[in-house]
Amino acid sequence: MTIWKKNLQKPDKPEPTTVKNNLYLELRKEIKPLHEQGDLPTKVTGSFGRYYCDLCNATFPIEELRQCSLCGRWACNSCFTNEYYICNSCNGVLKLYITKE
Ligand SMILES: [Zn+2]
Ligand SMILES: [Zn+2]
Repeated sequence: MTIWKKNLQKPDKPEPTTVKNNLYLELRKEIKPLHEQGDLPTKVTGSFGRYYCDLCNATFPIEELRQCSLCGRWACNSCFTNEYYICNSCNGVLKLYITKE
């Protein structure tokens, strides 16, 4: 059953952005990316497989970091807003935009 296989994809990944499209584009203009999408996080010198969270500067294995879809920062779990797939810093900006509307 091929349908089954499709449904077996990991459910732990949050849905990508549900931000309204025009709002998202606004934010894209507003937020200067710190990293290119697809860039790797900053590696901790002298350590094996540890990388910096761009927001809190704590170090994590790469599996625990996610790249913000707006600014490109790499964020750990507590610095990341799963709902919109963006970092907490961008989420702060997003909230300002939402309340403006
Ligand atoms: Zn962090
Ligand atoms: Zn961000």
